[in-house]
Formats: sequence, C-alpha cells, structure tokens
Amino acid sequence: MDIKLICTSCGEVYKEETNTFRCTKCDEPLELELVSNAKIKAGNMLEQSVLERYSEFYPFLNNKVDISLGEGFTPLLESRFLSKELGIKGVYFKNESQNPTWSFKDRGTITGVIRAMNLGFKGIGTVSTGNMAASVAAYGSKAKIDTIILVKEEIADEKLKPIAIYGSKLVKVIGDYGKLYLESIRLGYDNGFYFINSDSPFRVEGYKTIAYEIFEQLDYKTPDYVLVPTSAGGDIRGIEKGFRELKACGLTDKVPRFIATQATGCAPIATAFKNGKEEIERFNNPRTIAHAIENPYPPSGNQVLRMLKNNGGMAVDVDDDEILNAQKLMAEEGIFGQPASATSLAALIKLKEENYFSDEDIVVNIVTASGLKFTSALDQHALNTITIDIASLADIIKK
Ligand SMILES: *Cc1c(COP(=O)(O)O)cnc(C)c1O
Ligand SMILES: [Zn+2]
Repeated sequence: MDIKLICTSCGEVYKEETNTFRCTKCDEPLELELVSNAKIKAGNMLEQSVLERYSEFYPFLNNKVDISLGEGFTPLLESRFLSKELGIKGVYFKNESQNPTWSFKDRGTITGVIRAMNLGFKGIGTVSTGNMAASVAAYGSKAKIDTIILVKEEIADEKLKPIAIYGSKLVKVIGDYGKLYLESIRLGYDNGFYFINSDSPFRVEGYKTIAYEIFEQLDYKTPDYVLVPTSAGGDIRGIEKGFRELKACGLTDKVPRFIATQATGCAPIATAFKNGKEEIERFNNPRTIAHAIENPYPPSGNQVLRMLKNNGGMAVDVDDDEILNAQKLMAEEGIFGQPASATSLAALIKLKEENYFSDEDIVVNIVTASGLKFTSALDQHALNTITIDIASLADIIKK
C-alpha cells in the first residue's frame, strides 16, 4: 500500500520515508496522511489485538506480521473521589502502565516494528534510557529481528538491567543525545536498521489507538480535555491525530482540547507556549524527578506548539513537589504511575485552581507508565509503616 508522508510545517508530500524522518526542506517532522474513511471493527475485544480492532485506521500497515504482546486495551478509570474534590464533572485516568512493558510506548513500538518488517529492514533500533528502550527490546525479541538499543553512558544499573533482560544489542554511547537521535536514524536507515525513535512517523501512528479506546470507553463520546505528559511530543501528537481522524471519519463532531504537561525543571514546550513563541528553545540544565520527560530539545516541540494552537489547547509545567503530590494522590486512587506520569494530574489540579476548567468538563489524564519502573522516586515520599509484636495485633486491628 502506498503511503503519503506530509510535512507538519510546510506541507511538502513524500511517498516514502526520508532517512531522517524529517522534511528535507524545512527539517520539521513528517506525519502520515489523515485517515478519513475508517470504522471501528465490531467484535469481541478478547479475541482481537488493538491493531485488528482499529485496522481500518492503519491502511498503510501490512499487519499480517503478528508480533502483538497484548498492547493496548488499557482501562479508563473514573475517579469519583477526585471529581468531587476538584469540582469537575468527570476525572478519568487512562492507565497506560498496563501495557506489556508497562508504558504507552508499546503502542508505537509495534507499529514501528511492523513497518520495518514490511519494508524488509534487517534490524530495528532506538535511542532511549528508559521506557522506549525496554519496549523496543521486547518487541524486537518477539519479532526475532536484530535489535540495537542505544543508551546514555551514565545510565543507572536499576534502569539498564530491565532493558538488558530482553537480549538486544545494548550499547552505552558517550555524547550529545540530540545528535544521536538524528545520526542513529540516518546511519541506521542507510545500513538496514530502522530506528524507531521518539517521534518517528510510524511510532506516532501507533499512539492513535489511545484516542480510539477512550472514545469507545466513554460510550462513543469525546472528552473535553486530554492531559498528556510530554517530552519529545510523539504521544500527544498521536492521540490528537487519533481524535481528528474520528472526526474526519464522521464518528464524532468534536476533538478534545489537549494540554501538554511538562516538569518545571525541563519545560521547553511549556516555556515557548507561555511566551507566545512559535519555536522552542533548548532548555538549559534540565533537572526534575520526572526523568521520562526530560528532553531539553524535543524533536516534535515546534509541531506540538502548532498543534496546540490549532487545537485550542495549551502547555503547562508543574514543579517536582506538585508532581510528587499528584503521584501520591493517584496512588491513593489505586494507580501507581511514575513521576512523569503524574504531571497530568498535577497540571489538572493547578489549572483547576486557576479556574481553567468548568464544572461540566470531562477530562482524561494519560498515565503514561508504571511507578514500578522508577522505584528510587519512592525515597522522595514520607511513607509510614509501624512495627509491632504479634501480641499487640489485636490492639492494632481494633484501633
Ligand atoms: C516517553 C514518555 C513520555 C513522553 O512521551 P513523548 O512521546 O516523548 O512526548 C511521557 N511519560 C513517560 C512515562 C514516557 O516514558
Ligand atoms: Zn517541510
């Protein structure tokens, strides 16, 4: 099937991937043509993979290659407690920690790997220090395709080993990461390795399924707002495109407003948004507990700004105290996300205090990954336990 990749900035059309996944004219990211004639397949979700159910939204993927690890179909959980507490009609959490490698990255990894296999690449790869590395390593193993994972040289063992277990070629690289992002795609492409980095077009496509699921889970309704923890910008672009496609296909008449949430300690997109700029600037000395969203120069940053402008949404940053507070609050609702994932709830609380939402709004927080992937953040919480002698058990239970 033919593809049409369109420049998100100048509109130039490409019939195949460029070896940087970016526009050769203006250097902005490319994206696949909007799908406007798809339906959601009926049938029993227990007998389908997400890509089967939403296959009409992926006309350019030949997904006869079955490498599903059971990604997607994650719960959308309503918090009646927080709805009441915050005075918002519906507060929901889309819990992406329930993916095969505990983050939403799996949705985009599978579409990227299928694309690589459709094109006949001999291998795949990615540049990441966390969730994306584990995801690509897992799908590379499932697909039995050569897989190279490039990580930062100073990566902690706690993070390295859960990536290494999948058995890919794992390489620590010394040097600048923005440069590595581009060089890996280019050198990989020219040497038979398809690098599925943070905002590669076929990765972004995979994230659309989050939108389709939310739509089905809300009984074929669209929420008013979706809050998305944002780093490179791939996830928010994919989810927004998913909703725009539902509208283009005549399935809904409304696209939700999007809110990109960032950490104050690394907020290139939120800063540019606040200052009314059309382009992001490199964020100096990034420092936050939300490591998974610590990209100082996001490759889709400018596109996220353009998208937010058209969409009527916004970008906002929250500091580490607000993030940790939200992580705890969310855990007390039974959902343990990592700090980056809690920026959506932290931003919701902050914006509600500024009267940004009305009490009639339905809002969805994307919980991007599991708290168990970053347990050292637990040291930042005051967590109490009590120790007793078994003889005092009755007293403790009665109290
Ligand atoms: C990758 C990631 C993000 C950011 O996604 P982008 O597509 O880079 O914007 C947010 N939260 C977590 C936990 C992630 O792993
Ligand atoms: Zn262009």
